[in-house]
Amino acid sequence: MTRPTLSHAAMTQFPLAGDELLVGGMPLTRLAERVGQTPFYAYDRQAISARIDSLKAVLPARLELHYAIKANPMPALVAHIASRVDGLDVASAGELRVALDAGMAAAAISFAGPGKRAQELRQAVAAGVCLNAESLTELQRLHEASQALGLPARVALRVNPDFELKSSGMRMGGGAKPFGIDAEAIPAALRRLAELELQFEGFHLYAGSQSLRAEALIEAQSASFELALRLAAAAPGPLRTLNLGGGFGVPYFPGEARLDLAPIADHLAALDAQLLSAQPQARLALELGRYLVAEAGVYVCRVQDIKQSRDTTFLITDGGLHQHLAASGNFGQVIRKNYPVLLGNKAGQNADQRYSVVGPLCTPLDVLGSEVMLPQAAIGDLFVVLQSGAYGASASPRGFLSHPDVIEVLI
Ligand SMILES: *Cc1c(COP(=O)(O)O)cnc(C)c1O
Repeated sequence: MTRPTLSHAAMTQFPLAGDELLVGGMPLTRLAERVGQTPFYAYDRQAISARIDSLKAVLPARLELHYAIKANPMPALVAHIASRVDGLDVASAGELRVALDAGMAAAAISFAGPGKRAQELRQAVAAGVCLNAESLTELQRLHEASQALGLPARVALRVNPDFELKSSGMRMGGGAKPFGIDAEAIPAALRRLAELELQFEGFHLYAGSQSLRAEALIEAQSASFELALRLAAAAPGPLRTLNLGGGFGVPYFPGEARLDLAPIADHLAALDAQLLSAQPQARLALELGRYLVAEAGVYVCRVQDIKQSRDTTFLITDGGLHQHLAASGNFGQVIRKNYPVLLGNKAGQNADQRYSVVGPLCTPLDVLGSEVMLPQAAIGDLFVVLQSGAYGASASPRGFLSHPDVIEVLI
């Protein structure tokens, strides 16, 4: 059984039945019939549950595991996850609605993100969720919403730390950032929070995203933890929540290996014990997006044409960057690299042919696989991009070129 993913980390989350990839236990050709069109995204419930279970098995029992909806806001998927995690993190009023609809208790929802508008903050206070305030302006707006509604706003301060997550895909803390309040300005923000009679919940730190290095994550968690405990000394009340962010990555590109969870879990257990003695009423939280869902999703499109141009054979599919921007290399990557890909109806066959796989858009950026090895392809084959459960449909410019929209299914 050769998979056309030799230099990628082993992708075993979807088994084979004969030549067919099984997603949600269903052969891909049949799933495509069930969906009724290509392209589509399919997310495997079982794979998501298994990922959450494996995390819970190693993380400290007191630690709260949250899902950051931004990674994949499909309502059915969020509802599936909501019953299996301790909280949901949202970054807009739209995501807040999805989280509440999913059945998550308001007390277990937190709302982060810069530039929260007065109306969004008012909705969140009315809902009763925890606000991760990112500026003094937001504190003022929260005060006004509290007064107007007669409800105390529950507020954590998002801290822009004085360090970064090393070797992460996207850095979101340290230096000058639009996210959070600079660590050195936190004591003044805490005084303001007390003056405005907002209910203090704790701190939120988020150093970065998509890290595959356990040591780097441990270092960032240590530094975040120490910073938060230092800042807590100036807080108007006890720390209830200490959200250390996430940043757990998944392997997308050749040469990348899966994150080693064991040392991270051991280290979090040590932090948890320290927190229990320093701030007994506080709980640690982790907010993970892609780590929970990315590996459980596939993007499936159909080969519409096969064209030889000089020395290159192109597979032209009905899917492309308008629906999967990240796989085309245009979502935060510096150098374009291939996601793991295969032909889902020929996944058991030898990948001995070299193809460049593109979409139907009139732009040279519309590439889903550059010089990838696949079995002998035919028009009608199902081209599959693995590792597609996060930052897919909702993170793509779906109006670009006005093609029919992609469908998402949870199976
Ligand atoms: C985007 C984001 C996340 C999720 O990041 P992943 O890389 O998907 O885990 C978590 N927290 C905050 C504040 C974010 O902005």
